Amino acid sequence: MTTRSLSLALALAASALAYSPAFAEPLKVVASFSILGDMVKRIGGDDVAVTTLVGPNGDAHVFEPTPRDAKALGEAKVLVENGLNFEGWMPRLVKTSGFSGEAVIASTGVKPRELTPEEQALEEAEEAHEHAGEKTAEAAHENDHGHDHGSVDPHAWQSLTNGAIYARNITDGLAKADPAHASDYRKRGEAYIAEIKALDGKIRAEIDTVPEDQRLIVTSHDAFGYFGQAYHVRFLAPQGVSTEAEASAQDVAKIIDQIRAQKIRAVFVENISDTRLIDQISRETGAKVGGALFSDALSPADGPASTYLDMFRNNADEIVKALKTS
Ligand code: ZN
Repeated sequence: MTTRSLSLALALAASALAYSPAFAEPLKVVASFSILGDMVKRIGGDDVAVTTLVGPNGDAHVFEPTPRDAKALGEAKVLVENGLNFEGWMPRLVKTSGFSGEAVIASTGVKPRELTPEEQALEEAEEAHEHAGEKTAEAAHENDHGHDHGSVDPHAWQSLTNGAIYARNITDGLAKADPAHASDYRKRGEAYIAEIKALDGKIRAEIDTVPEDQRLIVTSHDAFGYFGQAYHVRFLAPQGVSTEAEASAQDVAKIIDQIRAQKIRAVFVENISDTRLIDQISRETGAKVGGALFSDALSPADGPASTYLDMFRNNADEIVKALKTS
């Protein structure tokens, strides 16, 4: 072979490579909310292009998808959602978008936390309240077809043990949808899971410095049930596991009584919620506002909780700080 024909052969080989999967565009992935978006970016690296539907400080409970969201999902090869009835708006969006890729339910395999009878009663009361105000045919239609929040708590990412399960499911989903990069996804996925597990141990040790009977926290909506189970902290919240309906006056009065009776000294605002409710509770009880906890969304990039792991560090630090000074 002459030098010229060799270089021609190399050029042809290179142009063939340019069309092979190794040089293809990044895998298009849609993540339903910011915490999953961060996990996908960690595991997917440069091999994925992620669109996050509910962004930083956004509330996925009351999200209303736009035509742009439908377009992004229609073009995606992978959808990553939480499941456990968290994204009530997702089935309709999937239908509208014509999405036909790999759907990853990140919470698959976690042990769902059943609501306690009190939490269940709170949900039902809020539900009745919410539906009493429904006027549109669409809302009534949705109601007819079992508009159901279910009796399990959707906030399973608030335990790092579950976070590791989420990471595993996302790794498997990406590897399945994009076999050419499967080993890269697995490598990054394993490294990430190791980090999640290390942080879990660190947070357990940090929270263990507070006596268990003092670990009592008030937040606005009931998003920390899995955190409470994992790290033995009790959380009280006037609003149920969804933010769809406002807390009733009775629920707020009940929390105020509990705070006084149990001498709870710190209440927390959440990044996704209006602070007025917690401000009111703080005024009426003298409990101080202990800072912001990140429940259902990350902070923007310049905030203290712009990744899943930073969110956990921030929340554990804020909780321990408030409990120790109270
Ligand atoms: Zn929530």
